[in-house]
Amino acid sequence: MRSKYTIALPVIILLTFFSCNSEKQQVPGKQISKTKNTWQLKELNTAQISSLDKNKTVVLIPGGIMEEHGPYLPSFSDGYWNEKFTDTLAKTIAAEDSWSVLVFPLIPLGNSGANDIGMKYSFPGTYTVRFETLRSVFMDIATELSEQGFKYVFIIHAHGAPNHNRALDQAADYFSDTYKGKMINLMGLNEAQMNWFEAAKTKEEETEDGMKMHGGMSETSSMLYIVPHLVNSHYKTAVPFSGQDMDTLISIAKRPEWMGYFGSERLATAKYGEEAWNNNIKMLTRLSLDILNNKINPDTLPRFGDFMKQSKPDVLLDSLSLKEEQRRKENQEQWLKSKRLF
Ligand SMILES: [Zn+2]
Repeated sequence: MRSKYTIALPVIILLTFFSCNSEKQQVPGKQISKTKNTWQLKELNTAQISSLDKNKTVVLIPGGIMEEHGPYLPSFSDGYWNEKFTDTLAKTIAAEDSWSVLVFPLIPLGNSGANDIGMKYSFPGTYTVRFETLRSVFMDIATELSEQGFKYVFIIHAHGAPNHNRALDQAADYFSDTYKGKMINLMGLNEAQMNWFEAAKTKEEETEDGMKMHGGMSETSSMLYIVPHLVNSHYKTAVPFSGQDMDTLISIAKRPEWMGYFGSERLATAKYGEEAWNNNIKMLTRLSLDILNNKINPDTLPRFGDFMKQSKPDVLLDSLSLKEEQRRKENQEQWLKSKRLF
């Protein structure tokens, strides 16, 4: 885990000693500089947290699913992107005059790995939680934050499974409806999810890479840009698992030889990853600031989880994933009952 927004601990302690005792609403960072107005929640003490102006503090909660990404990419690929983007977004928001940023520790829990596409529910690299577990985790954190007075929360948890995004959307809606604040599952917005990892490809690359889904040219390029030391260099000879539509990808993933990714990873370059990153950052930071500054009502923006209800193969996959989760839940409940713990 990286820690990028910190100021020297002695400075925090000194400022807290002088500010928190006397003026409860004083934000510690305001006394240092505008660009350092970002805080890591895990490093703050009770007095420091109490001193934050909750009406002018944006909480960022990064997530990261543990999900197989085949033999060339790390299991935490989505999380590395989320971590870097959270860092960038924190700096962008904190550079505005009106906002401070509080960064929650990354939550490495997500729902429905790409292996579900092949109906292979156990796969090395995937360690997911059930839909309702993920929703409960974020509802619980929403409750804690709101009852302490926080009003603005962004979840940064890019992962392309529709159910994953629905769980986070529902937790965010719970916060917004119940506590009259704004909690946004940023990467669950359709514009954000559909353009994730995207940059211009040649016609030949489009044909070889096929439908963008998981791994492939786009995500491998992004990892070459973000965490090049974690990309297995044999990606340059990776066999493509490409298809132009979802039904084809499902049939590919069901085959025994499927390696856990789609598309053509051998086409990946760090340069493409950088272009996609820059495109994403431009769009997502603009979207986030427009939401915060009331230029856009997030309730009017199309959501990926809703949009994907139009795709019949995805609706089927989502229902099968939930069926498997029900099986796991029943096993757990049976055991708990047998031990009189339930
Ligand atoms: Zn991924």
